[in-house]
Amino acid sequence: DPPAEEFAYQAEVSRLMDLIVHSLYSNKEVFLRELVSNASDALDKLRFLGVTQPEMLKDGVDLDIRIKTDPENGIITIADTGIGMTRQELVDCLGTIAQSGTAKFLKSVKESQEAGADNNLIGQFGVGFYSAFLVSERVVVATKSPKSDKQYVWEGVADSGSYKIREENDPAKMLARGTCLTLYLKRDDKGFAHTERIQKLVKNYSQFVSFPIYTWKEKGFTKEVEVDEDPVDSKKDGVNDTNVEKKKKTKKVIEKYWDWDLSNETQPIWLRTPKEVTTGEYNEFYRNTFNEYLDPLASSHFTTEGEVEFRSILYVPGVLPSGKQDTINAKTKNIRLYVKRVFISDDFDGELFPRYLSFVKGVVDSNDLPLNVSREILQESRIVRMMQKRLVRKAFDMILGISLSENKDDYDKFWENFGKNMKLGCLEDHSNHKRLAPLLRFFSSHGEQELISLDEYVENMKPEQKAIYYIAAESITSAKNAPFLEKILEKDMEVLFLIDPIDEVAVTNLKSYKEKDFIDISKEDLDLGDKDEVKEKEIQQEFGQTCDWIKNRLGEKVASVQISNRLSTSPCVLVSGKFGWSANMERLMKAQTI
Ligand code: ADP
Ligand code: MG
Repeated sequence: DPPAEEFAYQAEVSRLMDLIVHSLYSNKEVFLRELVSNASDALDKLRFLGVTQPEMLKDGVDLDIRIKTDPENGIITIADTGIGMTRQELVDCLGTIAQSGTAKFLKSVKESQEAGADNNLIGQFGVGFYSAFLVSERVVVATKSPKSDKQYVWEGVADSGSYKIREENDPAKMLARGTCLTLYLKRDDKGFAHTERIQKLVKNYSQFVSFPIYTWKEKGFTKEVEVDEDPVDSKKDGVNDTNVEKKKKTKKVIEKYWDWDLSNETQPIWLRTPKEVTTGEYNEFYRNTFNEYLDPLASSHFTTEGEVEFRSILYVPGVLPSGKQDTINAKTKNIRLYVKRVFISDDFDGELFPRYLSFVKGVVDSNDLPLNVSREILQESRIVRMMQKRLVRKAFDMILGISLSENKDDYDKFWENFGKNMKLGCLEDHSNHKRLAPLLRFFSSHGEQELISLDEYVENMKPEQKAIYYIAAESITSAKNAPFLEKILEKDMEVLFLIDPIDEVAVTNLKSYKEKDFIDISKEDLDLGDKDEVKEKEIQQEFGQTCDWIKNRLGEKVASVQISNRLSTSPCVLVSGKFGWSANMERLMKAQTI
């Protein structure tokens, strides 16, 4: 046998290995995600090459990933039938840091260590192949590229500055194609070498890798064996009349054996054609993925093309996040981001949805982002910004769909849970006012128990009515009793009752709907389109002095005293100035509820 050749790691790799072995203790389990994603990449590459060079696939082996565990010795093997590596590729790929993501990781670890932060970064970055050393003392990589008929073995030990490469000559150890990693686990990490543990991790992190992932698993089947007859029981067991002679009866026993067990869904639901997926399947995926008990209110499955390409399934939850009334928090685990079907992260802080839409759940699978995309990359990425724009639009379509649904309860439920979010959207997202406004609901002077939409309001407007009238108050009762209402109700016009503290702010942010301004009826200068200038002059002459007298008596307590045609039965009313806060706003500011 040719002797193994020893190579020194590139300096960065040594530094990374040192970090991995000595400093990164949390989130060790990501090693499996990284290694499975490498296997999946290798299979992807081979599949791609096979399109133009079918001879690459000539060995007729299936494209898959197989994981075996040896709990007694603490060994995990991960084998793929992908592209493999030549000798030179082994040196280039597993001895240097080729990808900028890992280099970036190193840099941010250094920064965070200097800042005294913990090393939780690994969950976000992953450190690729080297993450094998999070749990392993020794890693052996046997690999065979279809470009060469030789098989090579790479071997690295934690805490050493070098690795070895040798050629494999043992026929018993020859691979048909691809790569087989053998991880010799550290003493404290031997717990990973259990089928159940691996299957759980696969489900968690790699469930939707598009190649089958098999784990070597002990199974059992029930087998019927013949035992001596027990005369009393024979009838009960349904022995046929024709068999009464038989002196034997059968008994069920479980036969144990080992076999490969498929551990992932090979076809992610979002890759399927929407027409072919049932609502039941979407709902099940939702419940499984987000650990929900109830079905979502709506879902939307779509693909985008053009500038940015991704597939997504979004959901509007049917209930509030459990035990939490706060639906307005950008930091959620509601969106699972995949890059080329490999799970990347569900830890977002407003990157994919603005905080008022952070209740939307779903999966997003991008082909445009790098696999090791970091928080920083996400925040700076132009691709991510374009993705956000599209996701937000789709979310609005979905919510609008609920509002148009025949089942009115659905939108009531939505509004009860997330109405506040829509109102907050009016404050925080001016670019989407057109999408937000039709979704809003308010109480009004017409039906006091029923919420109405702005479309309904506009439909009910009188021909001569130019604006959308509202009054902000503490409660429906106090809105109803406001003297400002008298004249408007007399004309049979509708007035919105804004009784949620955020209502008025939302409406003032919108300014108008369908070219009708929102007008606060408690403010001065309310024009109901019924001005009679001659009559006003007469009244002005008759009562002008009375007003001056009252203003004199009240002094600084009021800004002015004016004659108005707004009232029908009340003699006078206190109103806010045109540019001042409404009484309601003043009350809110005092209470600091906004
Ligand atoms: P990345 O996957 O981001 O490129 P890694 O550190 O995970 O970085 O892997 C480094 C390189 O090693 C890969 O780009 C690939 O060329 C090679 N490699 C790793 N695992 C495999 C594998 N199972 N089969 C073939 N090549 C692999
Ligand atoms: Mg990788």
